[in-house]
Amino acid sequence: MYFCFQNHIILTHQEKSGQIRKEINLSYQQLKRAYPILKRQNSIGFVIFLIAVIIIIAVSIGWYRAIVPTCLMIVANAFFMGLLHEIEHDLIHWLYFKKQKTIHHAMLFIVWILRPLTVNPWIRRTLHHHHHKFSGTLHDVEERSVTNGERWTIKRLLTTPDVVLGGLLRLHRMFGDMDREVKNGNLKMETSSKLKRIMFLSIVPVTIFAHVVLYFFLVDGLLDWLNGYDITNLSFPHYVDNMLISLNLIIYTILLPNLLRQFCLHFITSNMHYFGDVEEGNVIEQTQVLNIWWTYPMQLFCFFFGWTHSIHHFVVNETFYVRHIGRKKAQEVLRKYGVRFNDLGTFKRANRFRDFSK
Ligand SMILES: [Zn+2]
Ligand SMILES: [Zn+2]
Repeated sequence: MYFCFQNHIILTHQEKSGQIRKEINLSYQQLKRAYPILKRQNSIGFVIFLIAVIIIIAVSIGWYRAIVPTCLMIVANAFFMGLLHEIEHDLIHWLYFKKQKTIHHAMLFIVWILRPLTVNPWIRRTLHHHHHKFSGTLHDVEERSVTNGERWTIKRLLTTPDVVLGGLLRLHRMFGDMDREVKNGNLKMETSSKLKRIMFLSIVPVTIFAHVVLYFFLVDGLLDWLNGYDITNLSFPHYVDNMLISLNLIIYTILLPNLLRQFCLHFITSNMHYFGDVEEGNVIEQTQVLNIWWTYPMQLFCFFFGWTHSIHHFVVNETFYVRHIGRKKAQEVLRKYGVRFNDLGTFKRANRFRDFSK
């Protein structure tokens, strides 16, 4: 349906989204014609996965042997774990080894174990498909679990990387919102119950265990610091210290890099998705492109998520590396049809698309 206004044709949001999809898909086809190697999707995905895993292991061994400094190891591992996050996301959309299930699931298992602060990826698949279908709604639990839609406070900052305690703190409100959505007919009762159930199952036991170890490690470090200044004289019982010592290698090489990576990813994703007042089915209102210069250090650890995730909302079934290589053309298309770029007002509006204060 067109609305004509002084010789201008105003497109509906469905038509705009359709055009965006068409033009971006066309640009991908051109890209693949120019570089036919890009069509070897399984092999490229597997090679990237393998390189990332090998580098993480090599850097970690280097650190263990005191060849690589701790800071460099954490930064390098966080970068390559960010790459593995993209591989996981592509696997969730069945973009690699759809027919060779053993390889597919083995890859999914390894990217999870190397990123244990994240939720179970087999369960995340359901949460993520729900996100694509209902992005920005009160029951978009995947985004809400990473602080999307909350007011900017110290609490939001501290809970940005934390899906366990942070999740617990927002559970009451989120479940209340979901019950209201069911009452208002916006969400099916069965879907609501299923989401609530699998949200809990998705963090048992790996994610909870990884978070609890990190809590102990961070509190232990804080107590040591306070004791050093004679402010307190507290410490954990010996068995906790022993547990931390025995897990030292995992804490440093896996958990700390993931904490950094997860903070960066959650900060970017929770501020580039809109929440709460997104018009139903309007993909243009679901996200913005967030690529302003000061986000660059954070983009580094989530493989430039803010640059490309908006594109993914329109063209879902494309790999992250094609999305990344073809981002310039795709961003031009998004801009042409009115997708927002670097709308920093979102920080003041608790990620609402509209400004209700005016
Ligand atoms: Zn997706
Ligand atoms: Zn999204």
